[in-house]
Amino acid sequence: MSNNNHGKNGDQPVIPPFDRDFAIEKYNPAHTGGMSKEQALEEIVPLRTRLNDLQNVLYADRRFSILVILQGIDTAGKDGTINSVFQVVGPLGCHVANFGVPNEEELAHDYMWRYHKQCPERGKIAIFNRSYYEAVLVERVKEIVPPSTWRERYDEINAFERYLDDQHTVVMKFFLHISKDEQRERLQERVDNPRKQWKFRSGDIDERRNWDTYQSAFEDMVRKCNTRHAPWHVVPADRKWYRDVVVARALVERLEQLDLKYPQTAEGVAGLKVV
Ligand code: AMP
Ligand code: MG
Repeated sequence: MSNNNHGKNGDQPVIPPFDRDFAIEKYNPAHTGGMSKEQALEEIVPLRTRLNDLQNVLYADRRFSILVILQGIDTAGKDGTINSVFQVVGPLGCHVANFGVPNEEELAHDYMWRYHKQCPERGKIAIFNRSYYEAVLVERVKEIVPPSTWRERYDEINAFERYLDDQHTVVMKFFLHISKDEQRERLQERVDNPRKQWKFRSGDIDERRNWDTYQSAFEDMVRKCNTRHAPWHVVPADRKWYRDVVVARALVERLEQLDLKYPQTAEGVAGLKVV
C-alpha cells in the first residue's frame, strides 16, 4: 500500500514531501488553512459520522486493520484529539492503548514488544496514545539509551511498519505540532484550572526545559520515518478545532481509498421472510 496523497493544507502540506528533508521550523503550528473556527466545528460533525460508517464496513470487510499513532510534546493534545475525532466511532471496533513509562516486564523485553501486542486485529482500529516512537523521543531526549542505540531504531521502526503494511495494517501517524508559547499557555491552564490540575506533574516543567531537544527529536522522527507505506502527518495543533479536522479528514480519506465492502450475502438470504 502506498499513499501518494500529500493532502494540501492551504500552502502547508499535511504530509511533508518524501523527496526533501523535513524542516520543522517551516511548519507553522498555528496554521489553519484559511479556515475559521466556525467552519471547522461545522465540518468535523459529518467527518465523525463518516468515520463511524467506514469503521463499520472495515469491521464487516475484515481485510484490513488500522493503526492510528499520535505523537506530540506534553499538552500537544493527544487525548483531546482522540476524544474529539473518535467521539462517534463505536467502541466495539476500536481501542485506545496508552503508553507511559515502561514497567518491569516491558523493560525485560525488546522495545517493540509492548506495542506489537496492542496492534489491531483485522477489522479493527487501534489508537496509540504515544507509541514505539518514544524509543527515539523521550528515550533519546532523557538519555535513557545512548545515541548508538536510538540511531539504529529509525531503520528498525521503518522495517516494522513495512511489515505491518505487508500484513494489511494501515499505519496512520499524526505528529501534533504546537508552538512553545501555546505549550506555556496550556501548562499554565493545567496549574490554574482545578479540573485540569490532575493532569499536571511538576516534571512537566523540567520536560519543558528540553523543548529544543524534543524539537530536534521530532524533526528526525519525521525525516527518517516519513515513508510512502507509513507517512507522517504533520498536524498544525495550536488550534484544537483545526487539528481535529486535519486528523479526521486524513483518516476518512485513507479509509475511503481502501474500497471497503460488506461481504456478499450468503445464498438464499436475500428475500427470506423472517417469521
Ligand atoms: P502521559 O501520556 O502524559 O500520561 O505520560 C506518559 C509518560 O510516560 C510521559 O512522561 C512519557 O515521557 C513517558 N514515557 C512514555 N514512553 C516512555 C518510554 N519508552 N520510556 C520512558 N518514558 C516513557
Ligand atoms: Mg499526556
